[in-house]
Amino acid sequence: MTTSQKHSGQCQCGAAKFEASGAPKFVSYCHCNSCRRATGAIFSTWVGFESENTKWINEPKFYASSTGVKRGYCDKCGTPLSYEGAKWAGELHLLIGVFEKPENFKPTAEAFREEALPWAHERPAKS
Ligand SMILES: [Zn+2]
Ligand SMILES: [Zn+2]
Repeated sequence: MTTSQKHSGQCQCGAAKFEASGAPKFVSYCHCNSCRRATGAIFSTWVGFESENTKWINEPKFYASSTGVKRGYCDKCGTPLSYEGAKWAGELHLLIGVFEKPENFKPTAEAFREEALPWAHERPAKS
């Protein structure tokens, strides 16, 4: 991945759009209960960038899921998009599934493993 590489993404309906550039700081699963509620998925996969390497082309709405936390979502189609937290000041975390090319990224870390559902990484046997 080169530093000039652009990564674009958007919500389901296209009302919220962003662009990130360069290599992400991290790509990580998150098993926390807050992400679970915010996305409705059993775990989330986040791509973290320095905020200065990201820009909203169309800004989403934001919800404070806890003090110092801003979760971006589209108020037209309901897609969750982003996370910003005081604990990770200066970073914008984007959900991997809203990128045009999520296959460009591969998770190398796992946060809040202790909150993971016991079967989170199991694949069902083929039926
Ligand atoms: Zn939308
Ligand atoms: Zn989380």
